[in-house]
Amino acid sequence: MQIEVDVSGRKVVVFGTPRSARRVLAHQLRAGARVTLVLPGPVPPVEQRVEGVRYATQPSPADTSGLLRLLGPAWSVVLVDLDRDVRDHVVELCRRLRVLVQRGTPAAAQGQVVLVGGGPGHTRLLTLEAAQVLGEADVVVHDRLAPTDDLAALAPGAELVDVGKSPDHHPVGQRAIEDQLVERARAGALVVRLKGGDPFVLGRGGEEMQACLAAGVSVRVVPGVSSALAVPAAAGIPVTHRGVAHAFTVLSGHVPPAAEELDALVRLGGTIVVLMGMATLEPVVAGLLAAGLAAGTPAAVVERGYSPSQRSTFTTLGRLPEEVRRLDVRSPAVVVVGDVVALAPGGSGGGDLLAALDSTWPAEEVPGR
Ligand code: SAH
Repeated sequence: MQIEVDVSGRKVVVFGTPRSARRVLAHQLRAGARVTLVLPGPVPPVEQRVEGVRYATQPSPADTSGLLRLLGPAWSVVLVDLDRDVRDHVVELCRRLRVLVQRGTPAAAQGQVVLVGGGPGHTRLLTLEAAQVLGEADVVVHDRLAPTDDLAALAPGAELVDVGKSPDHHPVGQRAIEDQLVERARAGALVVRLKGGDPFVLGRGGEEMQACLAAGVSVRVVPGVSSALAVPAAAGIPVTHRGVAHAFTVLSGHVPPAAEELDALVRLGGTIVVLMGMATLEPVVAGLLAAGLAAGTPAAVVERGYSPSQRSTFTTLGRLPEEVRRLDVRSPAVVVVGDVVALAPGGSGGGDLLAALDSTWPAEEVPGR
């Protein structure tokens, strides 16, 4: 159960150090609370203080009147880190004063970059681990295709930085993103780099990891649900299916693949999934046809998977470019080529293909029939 409380204009007293309590402070300030930070040592010089926060030095546990002066007018107390003896005394005083006591998780002591896969765009396709680390973040640096709708709630203590790129609009260059990750982590922040899909599938996550390693910054990866698998699934296309395809290849259409690559791909067989394929669709389709893939091979393109405007177009390889032009199909979209496309509810529901299978596969080899 989660209880939402409106703290705007209310006095909230936070016990912790400026470092350990930094996320709690950011969260409370954003929510509009009047925040006092009570720290174990002396109050830091003005230039090191967070704007809008009042600072006080923690009275000794024996100084009950000092503690009462701090706690009395408070609406809530957040305990981030506090010695056991003081904590017990504070909790007891709050109970008597009827001040709400909450526990705040201390922020990480060391800066770190976490490359987080955000899935194909819908918050519900974030992993539990991704949600957890977002909740702990000081900064979230996010892309256009990452799930951003609920970010403010998922990362309540974090500054949100949009470095979103679209195919013809690059607001922040890759190098500048990497520099920003490194700089912020070096300054002690827990930096979440939230990317669409999986960070290591055509997402330059590897480069960002290397930049951190080269700079001596601690980095870890939280995998995500890749659009390469999830977007076909959104249209009911299984990328493998016993007796139909036992391999799939995920290809970037960012730069058209060479003829030899497409040749090898067609010889390999299996399902072909193309990401970033809209700009180079024509040469890729022409290359696959030239490599011998039949023009009648089922093909689909799924746009804006998991959004309210998701659209799936089912056709054949030969007719794909024409259909994409006719329907003005746009990025982000995933192209799927292969017999598995015919298994989807919109791809003739698998009827034709399964009938064909009946004649080519011994009955016991066709699963679930
Ligand atoms: N790392 C990402 C892929 C990044 S490349 C992943 O694992 O999913 C970006 C491409 O992913 C887009 O051009 C598009 O082909 C595909 N894509 C990502 N999200 C999508 C979505 N919701 N719907 C359709 N295509 C999507």
